[in-house]
Amino acid sequence: MSDTSNMDVFNHEAFSGHEQVVFCQDETTGLKAIIAIHSTALGPAAGGCRMWHYRDNGSALNDALRLSKGMSYKNAMAGLSLGGGKAVIIGDAKTDKSEELFRSFGRFVNGLGGQYITAEDVGISVSDMEVVSQETPHVAGLNSGLAASGDPSPFTARGTFNGIRAAVKHKLGKDNVADLTVAVQGLGHVGWHLCKELHTAGAKLIVADINEDAVKHAVKEFGATAVSCDEILFADVDVVAPCALGAVLNETAIPKLKTKIIAGAANNQLTKDTDGMLLREHNILYAPDYVINAGGIINVAAEIDGKYDRKWVDEKVAAIYDVLLDIFKRADQEQGATSTISDLMAQEKIAMKIAEISKVGRSGRSDAKKDIVA
Ligand code: NAD
Repeated sequence: MSDTSNMDVFNHEAFSGHEQVVFCQDETTGLKAIIAIHSTALGPAAGGCRMWHYRDNGSALNDALRLSKGMSYKNAMAGLSLGGGKAVIIGDAKTDKSEELFRSFGRFVNGLGGQYITAEDVGISVSDMEVVSQETPHVAGLNSGLAASGDPSPFTARGTFNGIRAAVKHKLGKDNVADLTVAVQGLGHVGWHLCKELHTAGAKLIVADINEDAVKHAVKEFGATAVSCDEILFADVDVVAPCALGAVLNETAIPKLKTKIIAGAANNQLTKDTDGMLLREHNILYAPDYVINAGGIINVAAEIDGKYDRKWVDEKVAAIYDVLLDIFKRADQEQGATSTISDLMAQEKIAMKIAEISKVGRSGRSDAKKDIVA
């Protein structure tokens, strides 16, 4: 059991060589926030801001440390010139929001001088970030402005579709998904767009969602077969695509899976790190979630660059196919879990950049913003 009450940052179990952890407090507005910058080796640390009613400050620190490291890996594997960071605002998103609070948060972000770029995450809306943007330019995921990138979901879905194709190629030796059956768990923003892509490519769909209207709509629109939310993961299909909740894969669920491939957009699909190896032992190919669902952050990265370039976004989203094939091949060579291999490859990319920077010195480092569209 992790001790989330631990506020000893350097000895915290989620501390992983983080460059900077900033504790922000503003008594006037009631703001209490933590900004964790895991790495800026590849560029400014980018990652959303979460607002959550944490049970204690240690849980908030745990989240900030863990999620910022996750963003470093995600951005590295997406080939972005962005490091990893995350902010958490401690408070109830339903009752504790105010314009003053977000402006105060914006001033703290601004104080970091662009080392951290914030965006929406759980509990935070685009309109909250519009308020933050009144205090700092280091905000992404906005709906208005010259480079606004809009809804990231279609890009996340396209990247997930590309990832499913890569998994199908590696595991089943097929170049397309025509006539394969894919079970999609969750028909929200990403799941819906993913169903559309799969249907257009000739796949048969099995779907489930707690929202009955979404299910009815998918049956009508895509000829999908509806199953219950309890059954969807265990359907006898070629691919299961979790696109709803995290922690759906664990030591109870994995032995019951009938699919050969797990490839979906949901964040944090594995309950424990060891679940990656358990999937391998059950001969199931797992597309690491933060690699396959990177389409959204790629789209946001184009916004951060300040001149949204759709062609660049499309190329990077298409490259998710090759990145996943590399992970799958290396995992086979090393007989490792795809999730572990992906972490390792991300660490290698970051370490290589750090070695490069230490040779030329930080001042010789190229401008990260330019790199993003290089
Ligand atoms: P969403 O809230 O729009 O959709 C989630 C859907 O899952 C909803 O329709 C909800 O009714 C359904 N759902 C909830 N519990 C369920 C259950 N037990 N069984 C079946 N369905 C259930 O969210 P989204 O934006 O589509 O994101 C889906 C997942 O992908 C999340 O895990 C999210 O963190 C991740 N993700 C999203 C993006 C993005 O661009 N939106 C990017 C990266 C990762």
